[in-house]
Amino acid sequence: SRVLLTGGSGFIAAHTLDVLLEHGHSVVTTVRSQEKADKIKEAHPNVGKDKLDFAIVEDIAQPDAFEKAVVSDPPFEIVLHTASPFHFNVTDVQKELLDPAVIGTTGILKSIKKHAPTVKRVVITSSFAAILSPKTGFAKGVTYSEENWNDITTEEALQNPQNGYRASKTFAERAAWDFVEKEKPNFQLSTINPPLVFGPIVHYLNSLDGLNTSNQRVRDIIQGKSKAGIPATGVYIWVDVRDVALAHVKAFEAPNAGNKRFFVTEGGHFNNRLIVDIIRKNFPEYESQLPSPDVKGGEYPADGVFTANNKQSIEVLGLKYRKFEDTIVDTVKSLQNVGA
Ligand code: NDP
Repeated sequence: SRVLLTGGSGFIAAHTLDVLLEHGHSVVTTVRSQEKADKIKEAHPNVGKDKLDFAIVEDIAQPDAFEKAVVSDPPFEIVLHTASPFHFNVTDVQKELLDPAVIGTTGILKSIKKHAPTVKRVVITSSFAAILSPKTGFAKGVTYSEENWNDITTEEALQNPQNGYRASKTFAERAAWDFVEKEKPNFQLSTINPPLVFGPIVHYLNSLDGLNTSNQRVRDIIQGKSKAGIPATGVYIWVDVRDVALAHVKAFEAPNAGNKRFFVTEGGHFNNRLIVDIIRKNFPEYESQLPSPDVKGGEYPADGVFTANNKQSIEVLGLKYRKFEDTIVDTVKSLQNVGA
């Protein structure tokens, strides 16, 4: 199919681009600068312009950001919208998190409806952040699935960047489903809702300092930052970036994937202590950077944790999830490629 992929320079999008190309699709990806387009192009030297092309979209928070990008010859059939800010380094939650997430999402849907009637499926990268409820929490006995919605309010969103990020994903996904319901466009919507995503970074877009948010705890551990105490784990569920990338593509290739949310997660749990143990076992060169086994922190809560139901992603998308040890080993190897 002819596919528009937004935010092609991102951690998840870089892998999604590779799956799209492996599956024979023809892709235009949006990036914020020509420099990023050039780097992606150079990393795919044998792929012609008919299979990989670029559109510059500098700021998805501008309401008409995608007016030109959704138009192409041949016309698009599929849009994968992954671009959205994922970091906590903000002073203005509204401007830096909520606006790009929500206006970015509603903006692209409006532009598709107006200018790209051939699009039949839109896949949006949402998040477990749009599923989990701060009120229900992470305690043992709770099970989360696609049925659940985060009930965070705007007031709570503005309290701190972490709330702001989780709300940005929730409000953006809600706005997308509302759009489809009210506007009845030609396309069906699917959303991909991953929890914490780990996995290899592509070397051509990354540096250790500019690392995407979800891999930062792995970097911090091998840089010795947990020697005095392993930080609290936060979210205890995860997924490999390569599985998330495949999920985006299966969300339009698989029959019956339209009009659904997909909670893509391996099904088990992890904690930060386990990351340290896996690095200790597989990378003896980092031993002096690691906390000694008697250093505290990073465990599961004494009472246990919630359960994640990933059944729909396995049944409809056919995902076979990678195991935690393989993911962490491949993440560390990729960090070594950028100088760790
Ligand atoms: P990255 O930070 O690597 O990717 C974010 C992408 O969005 C980048 O391409 C970035 O461009 C682009 N972007 C951000 N703000 C703007 C803006 N205002 N205008 C234009 N482009 C913008 O993170 P991920 O790959 O992890 O995130 C991709 C998606 O996955 C996001 O929607 C995120 O919420 C979601 N997600 C991620 C999870 C994770 O653990 N990684 C978990 C759940 C969901 P640039 O780099 O040029 O700024």
